[in-house]
Amino acid sequence: MDQFPQPIRNPEVKYTKLFINNEFVDSISGKTFPTINPTNGQKICDVSEGDKADVDKAVEAAKTAFKLGSPWRRMDASKRGALLYKIAELMERDAQYLGSLETYDNGKPYLNSYGEMMFASNIVRYFAGSADKIGGKTIPVDGDFMCYTRHEPVGVCGAVIPWNYPVCMFALKLAPALACGNVIVFKPAEQTPLTALYMAALCKEAGVPPGVVNVVNGYGPTAGAAITANTDVDKIAFTGSTEVGQIIMQAAGATNIKRTTLELGGKSPNVIMDDADIESAAAWSHEAVMTNMGQCCVAGSRTFVHEKIYDQFVAKCRELGEKRTYGDPYELSTKNGPQVDKEQYSKIIELIESGKKEGAKVECGGEAVGGDGFFIKPTVFSGVTDNMRIAKEEIFGPVQQIFKFSTLDEVIERANATHYGLGAAVFTRNIDNAMLFVQGVRAGTVWVNCYNPPCYQAPFGGFKMSGLGREMGEYNLSQYQEVKTVMIKIPQKNS
Ligand code: NAP
Ligand code: MG
Repeated sequence: MDQFPQPIRNPEVKYTKLFINNEFVDSISGKTFPTINPTNGQKICDVSEGDKADVDKAVEAAKTAFKLGSPWRRMDASKRGALLYKIAELMERDAQYLGSLETYDNGKPYLNSYGEMMFASNIVRYFAGSADKIGGKTIPVDGDFMCYTRHEPVGVCGAVIPWNYPVCMFALKLAPALACGNVIVFKPAEQTPLTALYMAALCKEAGVPPGVVNVVNGYGPTAGAAITANTDVDKIAFTGSTEVGQIIMQAAGATNIKRTTLELGGKSPNVIMDDADIESAAAWSHEAVMTNMGQCCVAGSRTFVHEKIYDQFVAKCRELGEKRTYGDPYELSTKNGPQVDKEQYSKIIELIESGKKEGAKVECGGEAVGGDGFFIKPTVFSGVTDNMRIAKEEIFGPVQQIFKFSTLDEVIERANATHYGLGAAVFTRNIDNAMLFVQGVRAGTVWVNCYNPPCYQAPFGGFKMSGLGREMGEYNLSQYQEVKTVMIKIPQKNS
């Protein structure tokens, strides 16, 4: 902790334009839009607003960079890996600035922003190592033929990313795409364009050739939709809401059958059995839903507690909720900053009010902090029942919902009674219960006696309407490759 770099409060913004073909350029229309500091609701700066014309220009640059014989296509896989290692190094060099910038634009506590930079650079490093290990197979086919497969890049990838972990999401699309030899066009979330632009500058500094990485800031229905509509885009990688995921998948199908990976929403169950270590389970459950102000797709937003320990557990959650610090995100003691914007803030307040109206009990919080920033007090609801809106809808805020249950069979059924299936956890000392839960719950990741520990080597993704495909880990690589089968006739010697 001695080495931990102090934050740079409201750092200077270096890049505000679009990044196309390794240059920062104005949008063709000349339009801009403001990006807001959620801590005080004030404008930070204006950034260029791209739309269809800019997206098409970026896609054209990417297509050119992907042409056979181009520097990118001729680059050795090991060199692509070296470029990614260099990007990871530069991210670490500038983590203090990048983390401070993220806190400025997104509002998350600097401690978390800085941690996110380290996590994101580890993602890049992980995929850097795989660049020259992507090989095909030789297959023993019938007849006088040699058959082998080539794992080739898909081509032009479109990445539409959200605001909750802007740099992580950037890294998570960039690194596997480049490791496999693809080119990419990003559309960052309108709330958080600044770190994506800085990342683009780092890619250029690392030596990524022009056109390989492009960033078009703008709005979803214009810039985002232009990526999904462009028939020169071969693949789309999206993280965000299930609603927009559905729009993207339809657009991908309606145009040129773009390969599609989707990381969407969740309403993840977190089950506490009566034999759990209560202290530890309560601490994990609290972080599961409060981390990043609850703005996490895999937030453990349904805490199911066994009836035998229910009152004791609720008291523990209330105590943790009351103790959680909120305020100035540049203060290292701050656990919660503001929500990302006014819209998210209002949506969360509306859902909290619905919880009160529908009869859930507010154990702590349950209201906004007040002032100009978009702050909401850490909130714990007990007595939540399955039919309430707060039990069904993704709140994306610092709001814990506690439910009571009696048996494992019952809780597995209730855990699965949602169209989401991203994460799930069980806290128990009984291995049989743990194994039954792991098998029974329909979710992309299941944790036992922990909740979402940071990990970039294991695959992550959703069952059901929480997504399609897997990101992170080795599984991610196949989502950025096409398999080409090659058959070669082997002449046979006459005997
Ligand atoms: P969102 O609308 O799904 O935004 C995600 C990204 O998609 C943004 O870059 C957005 O652009 C873009 N987009 C929006 N409409 C589009 C369209 N028609 N075509 C192509 N791209 C489009 O999410 P949000 O509005 O920021 O948040 C709404 C809810 O989504 C949250 O409350 C939360 O429940 C969920 N969410 C989930 C995650 C996750 O990690 N799974 C992350 C963020 C949000 P804009 O910048 O214009 O919005
Ligand atoms: Mg902002």
